[in-house]
Amino acid sequence: MQPALPSYKRWTDLNGKKVLVRVDFNAPVHLVDGKLEVSDDFRIRATLPLLDDLIKQGAQVTCMTHFGRPKGQPTEEFSVAPIRRRLNELCPGIDLLENLRFNPGEELNDPEFGASLVEGFDYYINEAFGASHRAHASIMVPPMLLPSAAGPNLQREVSTLLGALENPVRPFIAIVGGAKVKDKLAITRVLVEKADVVIVGGGMAYTFEYAQGRTIGSSLFDATNVDNCRELMQTEKVRIPVDSLGLKSDQSFGSAAFSDPVIVFGENIPEDSMGLDIGPLSSAAFAREIQEAGTILWNGPMGVFEDPRFAAGTEAIARAVAQSPGYSIVGGGDSVAAMQQFKLESEVDFVSTGGGASLELVEFGDLPGLRALRESKG
Ligand code: AMP
Repeated sequence: MQPALPSYKRWTDLNGKKVLVRVDFNAPVHLVDGKLEVSDDFRIRATLPLLDDLIKQGAQVTCMTHFGRPKGQPTEEFSVAPIRRRLNELCPGIDLLENLRFNPGEELNDPEFGASLVEGFDYYINEAFGASHRAHASIMVPPMLLPSAAGPNLQREVSTLLGALENPVRPFIAIVGGAKVKDKLAITRVLVEKADVVIVGGGMAYTFEYAQGRTIGSSLFDATNVDNCRELMQTEKVRIPVDSLGLKSDQSFGSAAFSDPVIVFGENIPEDSMGLDIGPLSSAAFAREIQEAGTILWNGPMGVFEDPRFAAGTEAIARAVAQSPGYSIVGGGDSVAAMQQFKLESEVDFVSTGGGASLELVEFGDLPGLRALRESKG
């Protein structure tokens, strides 16, 4: 277990102090009457408890964030102006620096750029869990130069995820899905070690199925990881689907050909077909296990849930997670989007905001941005 992260509550007199807060306001925007506006302000609202508290204590607060991928160049498309407008509607009197990624020094972790950010500030707070797996300048440099602390959301994300891994109420059931085995193999390994049952679904499951000697047609497949999947299956903790929904692969998936018949496959998928969702027997079997859970950690959809023909598996799992009496943690952009799509977001105990950051925290038990805070002087 890592030592605790430093809290900003130890600063007892913030009156008149200048506080720099690294946030993750990388929010979706859309055009309204020719003007870009924030379409989902969840990430901004999530920081309000901290920002309001700092203002109440008399601090002068400046936030900084990355926004999109402008590749080190200022462009109007990636200006934080719409985010600043929304922030000031929700919390007047807070400054927001221009997009950190307008300067190539941000992603290069350039010490000079990092030092330029903290000039004139008294304190630094990292409230950007979703960016803390990246060794970028705004995450790594300020803790070397200013008294620094973890914001309350960052603290909560870390203690919830690590708490579930280190001290779960059992049985601890992990669910992993999504497209690629190679992206999820490391976290699956850790979960096989820590959890009692690991349910594998989504496109990544087909490589596990292939490793069991089944035919998978033209479903997603990663030849380089067959041995790794076979090795994980030997633990007997891993559950894989026993049926699939899919299409004949000469039918053009993705072209929204709603008239194409959806086929239910058993354990084997014919050569001319592909699996795009877990089938009803798998959904029911997985849901039964999830009902018994003491702790649930879910990352990654069970199928191509963006297409309503292949959303049933992900929805069944989302409902089982929502209804389970176990403590439920849902992480990763796609699983969170699925919970929202099925209007079940409020039914889970904890929604982790950082996709890549939650994966890396589970995998490594720590993140570069957290280490920087723990090593901070003052
Ligand atoms: P990831 O980003 O790895 O969590 O993957 C999420 C994506 O995986 C979603 O956009 C799903 O549409 C996709 N996905 C899930 N299951 C399958 C599948 N069986 N075949 C192809 N794509 C899938």
